[in-house]
Amino acid sequence: MVVLKAASPPVPSVNKINNGTIKPLITPSPSSFINLDQGDPEVFRAYWRKKSEECTVVINGEDLMSYLSDTSNVCWFMLPELREAIQRLHRVVGNASAGIDKHIVVGTGSTQLFQAALFALSPSDSPIPINVVAASPYYSEYKDEVEILRSGLYRWGGDAREYDKNEEYIEVVTAPNNPCGSMRRGVANCEGEGKVIHDLAYYWPQYTPITQQYDHDLMLFTFSKCTGHAGSRIGWAIVKDIEVARKMTRFIQMSSIGVSKESQTRVAKIIGVICDSYEKIGSSLDSDELFFEYSKRKMRERWEKLRAVVDKSNLLSLAKYPKTYCTFTNHTSESYPAFAWMKCKGGIEDCESFMRNLKVFVRGGKRFGVDQKYARVSLLSRDDMFNEFLTRISNITSDRKYNLN
Ligand code: PMP
Repeated sequence: MVVLKAASPPVPSVNKINNGTIKPLITPSPSSFINLDQGDPEVFRAYWRKKSEECTVVINGEDLMSYLSDTSNVCWFMLPELREAIQRLHRVVGNASAGIDKHIVVGTGSTQLFQAALFALSPSDSPIPINVVAASPYYSEYKDEVEILRSGLYRWGGDAREYDKNEEYIEVVTAPNNPCGSMRRGVANCEGEGKVIHDLAYYWPQYTPITQQYDHDLMLFTFSKCTGHAGSRIGWAIVKDIEVARKMTRFIQMSSIGVSKESQTRVAKIIGVICDSYEKIGSSLDSDELFFEYSKRKMRERWEKLRAVVDKSNLLSLAKYPKTYCTFTNHTSESYPAFAWMKCKGGIEDCESFMRNLKVFVRGGKRFGVDQKYARVSLLSRDDMFNEFLTRISNITSDRKYNLN
């Protein structure tokens, strides 16, 4: 008798990590939904595929077992090699001052550090929570992160431009801004004393010209948007005041007793690969071998293609960015933000729903504190998703069968 067995699924090798996503890798068809709502950074994957071997980290069974890393440092769970790698990266790029006079605190993404910063900057003895404000359109997650715990320390205070209370506040300044890509400064203007968190997640050469080395009191960076390795969940804060750094460290201790050392090791390694290519062998390399050259070209190409399509459309528009001299590339260029901040015209009141009709998920203006005529579209997706998006929006001028709700 012949027994027909159902084909068993391939057994994943325990030693070989696949690309770590269960997102379908099928090519999008004209009828499939495209998700450009989240800013999941897939756009630089081809570069890292080429660099796979160079970036490999071997972690043995007995490695990285302790909670502790460097007890002489304020951030005692941070590996010294990661701290040195971050300082080196900022020296190479010239975007922020991270020298020995600064304290670096590592976090599980800058999401954790944002909350650590709120904890550290909130007065511990005030009877009322401090107001947290950001100028609209602001990064949609700030409001939810502030409100989720209904904290007695801080509360959401809304749009920074409209803040007029005579009370202390914390302003979050995102530069370049998510969602609209513009460079920003603090805008809150009131009697109360203000502290500022500078979220510099996108202050990297591929997204915007580097115009100065920032030296703010509290700056947040994330590896997620620097290189695209969001899954490693590493962010860092550069902090001037040691007491603020101590309190942030305390918050991370209370929420996760530190940050994965496997992730820290991997990020230190990848930063080392980037910096080596610039410092040691940069001049002899093809420019596409250099990460920021490659990633900037990639973002520029996407923006050029997108603008060409949007320029022909009478229903969509995009902001223009000024040309600025970049001290890192020594060239003048526009910004190529990670997101397109799109405005619908021609009687379309709800850009998110309009895009939904095209089977494209985007994030509507309301989540960013503004009109639904606006929507944020991620430009960090895979090439095939991005190209399918272009095809869909290039068809909308000629075909007007849309439900303009
Ligand atoms: N700040 C901004 C402005 C962001 O866009 C993001 C990611 N979308 C974050 C912080 C959080 O990044 P992380 O992955 O490090 O938590």
